Amino acid sequence: MNTDNPIPAMTEKKELVANWETLERIFIRPEDEASRTALVKYMEQILFGLHDFLRKHVGITREASLEELSRRFTESRISRNPRKKLTDVIKGIIEEIAPHAVNVTSPYFIGHMTSAIPFFMVHLQTIMSALHQNPVKLETSKVVSILERQVLAKIHRTIYNQDESFYEKHIQAPESTLGSFTDDGTLANLTALWVARNAFFRSRGRFRGVEEEGMACALKTYGYDRCVVLTSRLGHYSLRKAGGVLGIGSANVIPVEVDRNSRMDTRCLRQMIREIHKDSQKSRVLAVVGIAGATETGTVDPLPEIAEICAENRIHFHADAAWGGPTLLSEKYRSLLQGIEQADSVTIDGHKQFYMPMGCGMVYFKDPGAADHIAYHAAYVIRPGSVDLGIRSIEGSRAATSLILGSALEIMGAGGYALLIEHGIETAKEFAAEISSRPFFELVTAPQLNILTYRLFPPELREKWETGDREKRKKINSEVNQINILLQRLQREAGKSFVSRTTLRRKNREDTVVLRSVIMNPMTDMHIIREILDEQEEIYYSHIQTSGNCSE
Ligand SMILES: *Cc1c(COP(=O)(O)O)cnc(C)c1O
Repeated sequence: MNTDNPIPAMTEKKELVANWETLERIFIRPEDEASRTALVKYMEQILFGLHDFLRKHVGITREASLEELSRRFTESRISRNPRKKLTDVIKGIIEEIAPHAVNVTSPYFIGHMTSAIPFFMVHLQTIMSALHQNPVKLETSKVVSILERQVLAKIHRTIYNQDESFYEKHIQAPESTLGSFTDDGTLANLTALWVARNAFFRSRGRFRGVEEEGMACALKTYGYDRCVVLTSRLGHYSLRKAGGVLGIGSANVIPVEVDRNSRMDTRCLRQMIREIHKDSQKSRVLAVVGIAGATETGTVDPLPEIAEICAENRIHFHADAAWGGPTLLSEKYRSLLQGIEQADSVTIDGHKQFYMPMGCGMVYFKDPGAADHIAYHAAYVIRPGSVDLGIRSIEGSRAATSLILGSALEIMGAGGYALLIEHGIETAKEFAAEISSRPFFELVTAPQLNILTYRLFPPELREKWETGDREKRKKINSEVNQINILLQRLQREAGKSFVSRTTLRRKNREDTVVLRSVIMNPMTDMHIIREILDEQEEIYYSHIQTSGNCSE
């Protein structure tokens, strides 16, 4: 693919004006030949040579500082007349924006849950935009809403594996909700807790339910002072947001301690539920959230035990599988998520391990009637009894991302996704073994799925740590934390590779700054991983050790 041709220049420099004539022209097609040529040329590169294109135009990071970039974007007035033709806009994006964006598709970019996507996703996204369907209601989507129900049933079946008659009955039944598409995992989690809250504080006697009458009235009616949500210490912060939005209170989304393998400690969970439910306290647990693939460590909570505890106490059990959900497509590893089929609701992100373009979350319900607790009707748009998917959804208008997922499932098959999942899990295991074999590194959380955390821990400091008393250890630990903060920054700034950094807070332990790796790009192999570790050792030798950071 040749990307060196200069972008066709604008032939005439005519003053651009916003008038009806130009508008009519640009509304239906590129305004002139030059625009058309530029558009076709770049769309061709993006549609068929996406990864070459990104390699050429986007570094992992560039040197320009944020301050410098900020100075380029300070104009805050919308110009009265057009300032650019499409040709120049494309040129501007490619020459000025792309180089300073982040190349998340590089196989050396292993720090986040955002990675390369298959090239066909861009085609599907383009088709979705061109069709411009709006599944909020049938009148703006028709067959797309029906397709959406089918895609939801396929994933529901992957999670819950009910029998054939169940899916025959519910797949296209307007009154059933097997799940819904949302814009992201945050809104999927919010939706799940919204359903849990409304089911908990449902109408009773003259009380018309929390959705209508609000939390104050709900608590009074039910005789409680507060309700809480319990989740692992590693729970995603979207759960706290949901607590805030739903009037539960973000501080009432309470962390449960994790065990040595970073999984929710279920003894602790039992005990907390018992204490919260003691009569005098007048508090109730509204939901427990188990994580299937924690954002920081990729760890999976003991879902079967959580399910059992929730069933005993009649508490809504939500599984946050935003990250780990697609593991269910791998025969080899689906047992890692065992117990998820007992969850009342499940979150899965499309834009994570379904490798979809940004903007796709999903929430699933075991009981196809559960979402009735959040049903809304509006006379002009979503009528009772209709197939309008907007009836039980947090969003109004939204993109028809089911078109993308449905097509991707056809193109990839469960087997294709399984290969990606298995590559990630197995590469992460080898990565962990490589870390353990190197004297300069310490594995902090071993991968259960495809995420692991580790840190650089120079042998000379480790020796001192091992023989030191408590005070000394504390001091060394904070020194190692500083080393890893600096290391991560220097590696990012060098721009060749990227791992992320987080701080693990564990009971009775010092806060530990760790490097975090997420293996999802199928092009990331052990060769690349060894290069990344070599680079980290090299950075330590040449920039950190010598700079006096490690002195006593
Ligand atoms: C990513 C993630 C979320 C939030 O999803 P967004 O799509 O970023 O809103 C929630 N929970 C877990 C476990 C996640 O990994």
